[in-house]
Amino acid sequence: MENELNYMPVVPMRGMVLFPHMTLNFDAARTASVKAIEAASAANSTVFLTAQKDISVEEPSFADVYDVGTVAHIRQVMRMPGGVVRVIVQGVRRGMIDCEIPCDEYLKAGILEYEDSYYDNDNLAAAHKNRLRKTYEEYFSQNPRLTADNFMQVMSAHTLGELCDIVAAGAELEVETNQELLAEFDVCARAEMLTAALQNRMEVLKLERQIAERVKERLDKNQREYYLREQLHVIEEELDGGGTISEAEEYENRIKKLKTTKDTKEKLLKEVDRFLKMPPSSSESAVIRSYLDTVLEMPWNKTTKENNDIQNARAVLDEDHYGLDKVKERIVEYLAVRQMTNGKNSAILCLVGPPGVGKTSVAKSVARALGRKYVRISLGGIHDESDIRGHRKTYIGAMEGRIMAAMKEAKTLNPLILLDEIDKMGVDYKGDPSAALLEVLDYEQNGTFRDHYIEVPFDLSKVLFITTANTLDTVSRPLLDRMEIIELTGYTSAEKFHIAKDYLMPKTLKANGLTEKQLTIADSALREIIEHYTREAGVRKLEQKIGEICRKAAKELLSTRKRVIKVTVKNLEDFLGKPHYRFDMMNEHDEVGVARGLAWTSVGGDTLSIEVNVMPGSGKVELTGKLGDVMKESAVAAISYIRANAKELKVPSDFHKKYDIHIHVPEGAVPKDGPSAGITMATAVVSALTKNPVRNDIAMTGEITLRGRVLPIGGLKEKSLAAYRAGIKDIIIPEENKPDIDDVPDEVRDKLHFIPVTNMDAVLDNALR
Ligand code: ADP
Repeated sequence: MENELNYMPVVPMRGMVLFPHMTLNFDAARTASVKAIEAASAANSTVFLTAQKDISVEEPSFADVYDVGTVAHIRQVMRMPGGVVRVIVQGVRRGMIDCEIPCDEYLKAGILEYEDSYYDNDNLAAAHKNRLRKTYEEYFSQNPRLTADNFMQVMSAHTLGELCDIVAAGAELEVETNQELLAEFDVCARAEMLTAALQNRMEVLKLERQIAERVKERLDKNQREYYLREQLHVIEEELDGGGTISEAEEYENRIKKLKTTKDTKEKLLKEVDRFLKMPPSSSESAVIRSYLDTVLEMPWNKTTKENNDIQNARAVLDEDHYGLDKVKERIVEYLAVRQMTNGKNSAILCLVGPPGVGKTSVAKSVARALGRKYVRISLGGIHDESDIRGHRKTYIGAMEGRIMAAMKEAKTLNPLILLDEIDKMGVDYKGDPSAALLEVLDYEQNGTFRDHYIEVPFDLSKVLFITTANTLDTVSRPLLDRMEIIELTGYTSAEKFHIAKDYLMPKTLKANGLTEKQLTIADSALREIIEHYTREAGVRKLEQKIGEICRKAAKELLSTRKRVIKVTVKNLEDFLGKPHYRFDMMNEHDEVGVARGLAWTSVGGDTLSIEVNVMPGSGKVELTGKLGDVMKESAVAAISYIRANAKELKVPSDFHKKYDIHIHVPEGAVPKDGPSAGITMATAVVSALTKNPVRNDIAMTGEITLRGRVLPIGGLKEKSLAAYRAGIKDIIIPEENKPDIDDVPDEVRDKLHFIPVTNMDAVLDNALR
């Protein structure tokens, strides 16, 4: 290495390092630098370029620059506007500031110049060279900013030093690193340092690439989604002006607002997600849409304020219904208990009675009294569990069950739901609806009722359920156990009259847009309608008949100049046609072999004339009329009793051999069954056999045993009403039914004479002349 000392101007460089063998193009703007370049150009064009340690220093002194720099040859100088000079310099060799030369205008120094030593024959240098080349090649492949020019230069470098300088100059390393490389005079050490720097740089590049990729990925995904959604938006807008996206967003917002568990919300949000992924016109999308619509339509958040005033409840019930004192009393008690126990553990009310006695309308009144919404579910004819619980939504046309449909209709969490005709529910192979209903009615379980369609649990615990039935015979035992039974019996004619006058008339008039002045129905006409145009326990037909009159009257008011219409017994037929019913009145005379029983049918009580003929024959017993099995059996029991007691009853002891007995029950339109005609049949047969007539003004009801005991029967109230209507005076009843006489309305009880009996002897004593 030969060291030569030369004096030359020094130009401090900001943010760059010039390596030997390299050409550099730069602008000098600072006065000192411009002066230095000018001075150099004027002399031998040699200048010393060295990097500034701190680039922010404006007028650097020797302390502010590195000692090691590069001696360069100025190739070209161009004056630019504003005093700037553009210079092209060629790096020649390394140099180090040896001594400062005093100069006012620029920095000047004595520079010791260093030539790189040649290591070419040295294996170590060769190894470094190879390694550096390889590293550079790798680096080149990874850094797209390196130019092909630079690559060519590197490949054509002769010496290790030259190679190092060329690589370092193009490698985009930090200024500090470059300065260190420049300051390293030992070429092998320099090569090693440079290789490490390149590797380091590659590592950084790799990380940069990874980061960039991740950012890009995220960006891509977002962009892709954004792009697709936008496209979807546009397509939907084109199609129908709406859009799945905005729909889904709306669903999401609505779901978030539901007052329900986190699980439920998550499940619903999942459905929204599925909805988004479906093509909008697919059938699946329609299924999910209607599912979400249905679920969101449920009253998740709404309750109405309940009126807990028991006094008010009674007042409302009184306002809406005539009579029914016991029923109203029981309902008010029930409501009071329910309030005390906070609705927990209370049984379900079940209103039982024949059609038209006001079960539905009582339930409606209860709803009105409590300020609850009223919804009715008709259970008649339901025989499939999924009617109650819904179908899974995978079924085509699946829907929620009746219960959830009622909730949807109610629009509140605490309506009163009337389960009408619970006794008409059937069972079939598709599952037992009453089992599903049990769950609905159980306040322990119905807080999380699961409809198959809705899938998420729904709270029914705030609902007040009331059920109705015509009879309890067909209601399943477990359901019965859960219910508190309140019986509504049929009305007497007098009760019907009051109901018609004070409740049905005003209601029907209003419904037909008439006033009391425009249409009046005379009391006698009303009674006529009750007796001869309807035959029922309740008042449904009666209401229909009044409605019929109202419609006819309205038509007449419009089509004629009449202002007022009065309906009387005389013109009643003009409105309703001929009367449909005639009551079986009591027979005019006492008769042999004819006894009057009392029956209890679906339309209330009725009298039942039983006729017996005895003729010579071989002991055959024939039964005619529309009789049920139980009634037939009780006829056989009656005859058996007579045979066993033939002597005491004074009938021929061989009657069962010599005579045929024909028992007939006329008026066969309404099927009759039950054991309560037992004593009547026995009486008619004894009368026929003894030729002893039966009193025409007596009626009877009671089951007979083989020993002649009289057992209690049901429906005494209705039966008494029928007897009264038929003009009967005395009525024989089983001793055990005595307490039921209290249920018979006063007007009937006062007119009828009840004869309680325990055995057949007493029956015959009273009935036969
Ligand atoms: P159910 O449900 O028992 O078959 P509804 O409740 O439908 O009978 O009653 C039939 C009609 O008779 C209704 O319009 C009802 O308001 C009326 N009604 C029944 N009982 C009474 C009553 N005690 N007072 C006033 N209206 C009554």
